Amino acid sequence: MLHGKRILIGICGGIAAYKIPELVRFFVKNNAEVRCVLSPSASSFVTPLTLSTLSNNSVESDLFDPKSGQWTNHVELGLWADIMIVAPLTASSLSKMALGHSDNLLLTTFLSCKCPVLVAPAMDLDMYKHPSIQNNLRKLATHGVHVMDANSGELASGLVGQGRMPEPKEIFETALSMLLRKEPKLLGKKVLITAGPTYEAIDPVRFIGNYSTGKMGIALAEKFALAGAEVVLILGPSQQPIGRFPSLTMIRVITALDMLHEVEKHWPSADVGIFSAAVADYKPKEISVEKIKKSVGEMPLTLIKNPDILAWAGANKSKQFLLGFALETNNELINARTKLEKKNLDAIVLNSMKDQGAGFGYDTNQITIISKENKILNFELLKKTEAASNILNYVVENLS
Ligand code: C5P
Repeated sequence: MLHGKRILIGICGGIAAYKIPELVRFFVKNNAEVRCVLSPSASSFVTPLTLSTLSNNSVESDLFDPKSGQWTNHVELGLWADIMIVAPLTASSLSKMALGHSDNLLLTTFLSCKCPVLVAPAMDLDMYKHPSIQNNLRKLATHGVHVMDANSGELASGLVGQGRMPEPKEIFETALSMLLRKEPKLLGKKVLITAGPTYEAIDPVRFIGNYSTGKMGIALAEKFALAGAEVVLILGPSQQPIGRFPSLTMIRVITALDMLHEVEKHWPSADVGIFSAAVADYKPKEISVEKIKKSVGEMPLTLIKNPDILAWAGANKSKQFLLGFALETNNELINARTKLEKKNLDAIVLNSMKDQGAGFGYDTNQITIISKENKILNFELLKKTEAASNILNYVVENLS
């Protein structure tokens, strides 16, 4: 995916530096070339040997070699890169970068580079909140630097709050969105995606759900956001990590009714709808306020039908391109085509429970796309991220 791309990673002296080898691996696995520049204290947190081994490149940290007196060409490094990522960005390097200080190689390289720069701050919560830090982050942003928000959670100090470095995967995904070419047909387009299962409460501790993980819908949301679309992802209960993109809005829901309400809000302004959620078809007629006791013996449970969210979108379609999913166990093509017609879709993505590696929970999927004109496109078993790229290409080809 990143063949020929050159990634320069500037590492500052913060504890989160121990996660940077993973970031290097993400890029190398995607065929990018990686070089690392360390601030003077970074090597206390991550070894140059680890980084040079994983990146297959030497690691730079000195403005010149004290033995030979040879100067390290920071201008060359800065011009070499397609993107410079500074992670973790510490308070000290941040303030120097905001002011234009140049007393180490990382800083001189930052000042020399002409490529986009992405920074991932990491510091203790009170430092992160401090007005001078926030001012410096804003200042960098006004200089054109892409500033990621720090994550919230447990910090090295043992305190809990905002200040954690965004995870390597999040940094990688954000860098991807900056590096990869946008799809012109998706710029300014709003794509509404439903994903994951829904949970329907029986009582305060029990629910009806299904095995959906949301992986397929999340992969779609990430691909469309990377390609430049404005994505609204309506996601049922899912534990999957999700990349952070400025153009991806995530709305968490629990029940089918919650999902329908969110779809109703966003559908009129959407250009594309991709409904991949595994919505629970039935829900209990009544939710018990108290936990139902085992002593009742058999549990009396009357189930009623949930609204069909996709059918609602199909019935309320104006200009939108609408794509549904069908997970079938038998008569796959006929069943999928019937759904396409009944729900007024433009196309339907079929996956069969019979195909090995396709369906709930797997990282792979084998899809067939059926158009309303009954054109059938078969794909082999692919990673869900690759299947998502094929669906994106199909949507783009069919967008007017
Ligand atoms: O009819 P069936 O459930 O097989 O249809 C699957 C498609 O319909 C999927 O795209 C799914 O997201 C959508 N759907 C929905 N609301 C429901 C049931 C299914 O949006 N209540």
